[in-house]
Amino acid sequence: MEKYDIIIIGAGAAGLMCGQVAGKRGYKVLILDKSGKAGGKIPISGGGKCNFTNNDCSADDFYSENPHFVKSALARFSQWDTLALLEENGIAWELRDHGRYFCQHSSSELVTLLCELCRNSGVLIRLNSQISKVERSGEEHIITVGDTHFGCEKLVVASGSCAWPQCGTTDIGYDIARDYGHKIIPVCPALVPLHYNKTDAALMAELTGNSVLATVNCGRYRFQEEVLFTHHGLSGPAILQISCIWPHEGKIHIDWLAGFDLTDAIEKGRASDGSITISKLLHGRLPRKFLQIWQRYYEDIAIANLSASQISQAVESFNSWHFQPSGTAGFSKAEAASGGVSTNELSSKNMGSKLARNLYFIGEVVDVTGALGGYNLQWAFSSGYCCGLEI
Ligand SMILES: Cc1cc2nc3c(=O)[nH]c(=O)nc-3n(C[C@H](O)[C@H](O)[C@H](O)COP(=O)(O)OP(=O)(O)OC[C@H]3O[C@@H](n4cnc5c(N)ncnc54)[C@H](O)[C@@H]3O)c2cc1C
Repeated sequence: MEKYDIIIIGAGAAGLMCGQVAGKRGYKVLILDKSGKAGGKIPISGGGKCNFTNNDCSADDFYSENPHFVKSALARFSQWDTLALLEENGIAWELRDHGRYFCQHSSSELVTLLCELCRNSGVLIRLNSQISKVERSGEEHIITVGDTHFGCEKLVVASGSCAWPQCGTTDIGYDIARDYGHKIIPVCPALVPLHYNKTDAALMAELTGNSVLATVNCGRYRFQEEVLFTHHGLSGPAILQISCIWPHEGKIHIDWLAGFDLTDAIEKGRASDGSITISKLLHGRLPRKFLQIWQRYYEDIAIANLSASQISQAVESFNSWHFQPSGTAGFSKAEAASGGVSTNELSSKNMGSKLARNLYFIGEVVDVTGALGGYNLQWAFSSGYCCGLEI
């Protein structure tokens, strides 16, 4: 049986970061991954350019049963540390809207870098190694891959979540956690499109392919970004953001004008010649098809001839559209999963289990979900780094 100080399950962002940090400290580290390529979900992230972190990164950008859990790891490996890592190693990045950092060329550069750092610190990465069993024998963890057994003193679970099963995700992380007595917060699709209910589906089908810059509200949360109309429902960044909140808060309100003051525009129009219609006032701000559908339900006559109540109804129809989804598009369309290994039973300092000695959970398998904007990769890096440093 091959023996190591540390075995890490999963060569994604979290596992590779943890491996290279622990390797540098002199530990004999093995990373096992079922896939034929290292990097986990990094290559498919951010449309191939992976949005790896964000200018503005705090505990408020993460969802978890314990909202304070991420603070320590984020403080010890922050967005600036991620950025410095790329800069030191010559990976060009670009800063886009909403403080989002992307690789300028390709996310594969980041995978190559993390693998190189692992290699430089003596970490072994063994691919095509699907773990079938993890058990304990005295002080040792025994990991089984096919007919081969690996032994280690410390086991790090970095196997990710079950979101986006197309890339071969497994439930092994949750299974290991359960075997050691950990609580799993129910795992649900997150950062995912939302499906129409029957009434909206009939109305909105014609809009498929269009997008609108809108403000989407749910509970105390508010996002102003694009909303995309699809065959089955709404998608786009604003909807992916709200999908993390909707299951808990329920009601979604959409301002299709993203703060544009239609009442004011109507008043100004009436003060000039008053012959313009609301659809003309909004021409160029909303897709033509959107306005055509709107005209079927509201009087679109010269604004000078609209009554006060017609104006307020029209304004409300744009500013406060109530969206009641029938559900989400599911794990196959989800960029992340909410829930996972409960943070209450993990140390926020080194991600170690409070229930089992020498067992650690990092990255997306943990009940920490980042908002859209580079937060999930930042969490993978921060949790992986702290674990590697303190293990
Ligand atoms: C389409 C898409 C786009 C995304 N875009 C972004 C983005 O731009 N920015 C961002 O911050 N986040 C993004 N995310 C989320 C982000 O990619 C993940 O949160 C992050 O990569 C998780 O890292 P991880 O190391 O925890 O897990 P993963 O990257 O999932 O790695 C887990 C590894 O464990 C391995 N594994 C699983 N089970 C086993 C087993 N039984 N035996 C052996 N190995 C196993 C897997 O093969 C995998 O390599 C996106 C996700 C998707 C699906």
